[in-house]
Amino acid sequence: MIKILAIDDKQNNLVVLTALLSSSFPDARIITAVSGREGIEKALTESPDVILLDLVMPIMGGIETCKRLKEDNFLKRIPVIMITATKTDSKTRTKALETGVEAFLSKPIDEAELTAQVSSMIRLKKSENRVLLENERLEERKRAETEQRKITERLSLACRAGGVGIWELDVVNNILIWDDQMFNLYGIKPDKFSGNYEAWLAGVHPEDLKKSEEELQIAMRGEKDFDTEFRVVWFDGTIHSIRALATVQRDASGQAINLIGTNYDITDRKRSEETIIQERRMLRTLIDNLLDMIYVKDIDCRKVIANVSDVKNIGYEREEEVLGKTDLELFPGQTGQRGYADDMEVINSGKAIIGREEDFVNSNGARRWLLTAKIPLRDKDGKITGLVGIGHDITERKREEEELKQSYTFSESLLKTIPFGMGIVDEDGTVLFQSDNFERLFGKEAIGKKCWELYRDDKIQCTDCPLICGITIGETDAYESAGVLDNRFFEISHTGMMYKGKKAMFEIFQDITDRKENEEELIRAKEKAEESDKLKTAFLHNISHEIRTPMNTIIGFSNLLSEPDIDSSTRHSYIDMIMKSSNHLLSIITDIIDISNIEANIVKITRNGIILNSIIRSLYEQFIPKANEKKITMVSEPGLPDEESIILTDSTKLIQIISNLLNNALKFTQQGQIKFGYAVKDKLLEFFVSDTGLGIPEEYHQRIFDRFYQVDNTVSKLYEGTGLGLAICKAHVERLGGEIRLSSTPGVGSTFYFTLPFEKPADTVITTPSPKKETGFVFPEKKKILVAEDIDSNFKLIGYFLFGANAYVIRASNGKEAVEKCLSDQSIDLVLIDIKMPIMDGYTAIKLIRESRPDIPIIAQTAYADDRYRAIECGCTGFISKPFDKKTLLNVISEFI
Ligand code: ADP
Repeated sequence: MIKILAIDDKQNNLVVLTALLSSSFPDARIITAVSGREGIEKALTESPDVILLDLVMPIMGGIETCKRLKEDNFLKRIPVIMITATKTDSKTRTKALETGVEAFLSKPIDEAELTAQVSSMIRLKKSENRVLLENERLEERKRAETEQRKITERLSLACRAGGVGIWELDVVNNILIWDDQMFNLYGIKPDKFSGNYEAWLAGVHPEDLKKSEEELQIAMRGEKDFDTEFRVVWFDGTIHSIRALATVQRDASGQAINLIGTNYDITDRKRSEETIIQERRMLRTLIDNLLDMIYVKDIDCRKVIANVSDVKNIGYEREEEVLGKTDLELFPGQTGQRGYADDMEVINSGKAIIGREEDFVNSNGARRWLLTAKIPLRDKDGKITGLVGIGHDITERKREEEELKQSYTFSESLLKTIPFGMGIVDEDGTVLFQSDNFERLFGKEAIGKKCWELYRDDKIQCTDCPLICGITIGETDAYESAGVLDNRFFEISHTGMMYKGKKAMFEIFQDITDRKENEEELIRAKEKAEESDKLKTAFLHNISHEIRTPMNTIIGFSNLLSEPDIDSSTRHSYIDMIMKSSNHLLSIITDIIDISNIEANIVKITRNGIILNSIIRSLYEQFIPKANEKKITMVSEPGLPDEESIILTDSTKLIQIISNLLNNALKFTQQGQIKFGYAVKDKLLEFFVSDTGLGIPEEYHQRIFDRFYQVDNTVSKLYEGTGLGLAICKAHVERLGGEIRLSSTPGVGSTFYFTLPFEKPADTVITTPSPKKETGFVFPEKKKILVAEDIDSNFKLIGYFLFGANAYVIRASNGKEAVEKCLSDQSIDLVLIDIKMPIMDGYTAIKLIRESRPDIPIIAQTAYADDRYRAIECGCTGFISKPFDKKTLLNVISEFI
């Protein structure tokens, strides 16, 4: 259908035009527009075959409208017929033609002219359009070809720039064409190129040849496009990697006729891949040879890498066994849950977990300890893709820690239980540690104080303190320190050690006071024993002399007594000599017995109230005859009036002490004076015995109190004695609570002092040594006395002693006989019994007699003090020390009858 656009500002004209056109072109569609602008718009939308345009129009005239139409690439092809007035000048027309108007129609419009013009324009347009179209097609093809050429050139350039070679294989005719780049890729010269299928494979590396050939043939058969990688060996021997891609071209029947392909060098890529593979291998070798467990987990916490150590530790053999599994699957119970929860936490929070100690039981049932780190893994954008974990096996360390803990606990309990005090001090002596028993002693505050401030009574560092010389680690030594902890004696063992990173000294305090004392005691005892031994040897030597001398006198004069023609005064003088020697002998024996009692520690002290002055007086009376004999003045000096001189002490011992001292004074003084007495001094009684005798050198002042000791000088050898007197004095004085000493100057004289406590008796009962009875004692009535004595001579002597005392004496030769006689003869008034007897001893006999005769006096003859105590225990009434004389015997018997 023809489309005609009529543009006129006058509606009438448009109506006329429409009418005329409609009649001439009944099939045409007439479009109208009342302005130039509307006309252009409608031309664009309707695309008319011809435009009728009025010349004169307001705003945009016909020429302007035409100009605009012809400026448009699309609209310019529509023929424009300008409707003009007849009078329109040629200038306007020329201008109209210049703008592109194809024809003119003058007003009033002639229908025939209109039809002719319009028809001609339509034809023109059609033919113009055809030519135009043909031209355009030509143009288009040229353009496309140029474009194609450009693309091909660009592609070729790009291929060359990218190192890509292009080839084409005519499968049917076996013709291979390739570009220059292909020669570069294969490293061959064009003259070596055969231009067929074989040329393609010629340079392929022998190892890749088979595969490449197979794939190429598959493509040539049209089964598959070609995509393969292979190596080529260049003429210079170098090897290059190539990737080849080819598309199969087919004919209408689908038969492969051509392969069009590209090859490009992938040597660098291959090298990079090889490098990456190598690096991966290296990394793998590295992690597999690390002792630590290393693994990688994906975002779902599943293992993707596990090194050998990890696999082994979990308890598996191969990595595949653990890959793809989470901790929940790898570890049972809580262990798995804990591990999985940690993994999740790392992945969700993006925060690493470092240095966590965990234990687990592996699939073999072994308990292991790990120090773990879990670190999140991120991609290049920082997104978390999984985690990497490292586990350091600390089972051994834990075991050591456990052992250490146990050993610490053990040491601690040792420290608690060992009874020694223990401490650790640093190099300056500052206490760093103390054992429980030291802590109880010094409290916790002791830490930080100097050890000597705590341990030593004088708070001064020990002079032999090992800290002074410096500590040597691992060296143990010991030293003894006095004056530690209440002035005791300690052996301090010390070991140099490190304590809390400091050089320190571990000290063990062992109280050796008792041991020391015992040692000293032992040494003293040993020395004493050695001394005693020496003294005893000397004593035995001495005593034999001492005993032999009086014995000699006794035997000698006893023999003389038997001579018939001696007168009475000579006999008396002999008897006197015999008596004196006997008494001397007796005193020697008494001293020996005393000292042995002292050493056996069986000397009993019996304190009673005594009048000291009476004792002094009676001693004076006893010794004055001897002093007179030697022409020595004797003076006694009681230190208190009689009434004040009542004291509580053991009178027997006191008399014995003073007698010994007086005996010595008399013995070692040839002229001058002997003075004795006492004085009250510092609430003590101080006794003294002084003489103007031989004197004693200073070095003997201590030793003369040792038993058997005698001053070793030629002078004293002249004097008889046993060396026991002073030892007995010292023992008695000390037992009575006093001390004995002397001051003496050789050649001038000696004074012996001893002290006694000045104690008053609680009651007024005073015992004074009973006055000695006269020897002419006679029982008022006849008394029957049983004498139990096994030795005949002794029995005879007693018989003689009792002769004339109005006593009837019967004998028993042993204990058994004594018991029998006592029981059978109720008239026996008194029993005098010896202790040592055959068949039955005195003790047993006394016991048995006492059972049936509770009131009969029994007097035991004893040699030793302990005999007396035992005899009293058995029931005897009194005792008499052997040897005894007539006077003593009668005195004792008269006390009981
Ligand atoms: P004895 O007199 O039996 O030898 P003592 O024990 O009584 O034993 O005395 C020991 C020693 O002390 C005497 O041997 C003597 O050397 C010395 N001695 C004791 N008293 C005196 C004294 N008054 N004057 C000089 N020497 C004395």
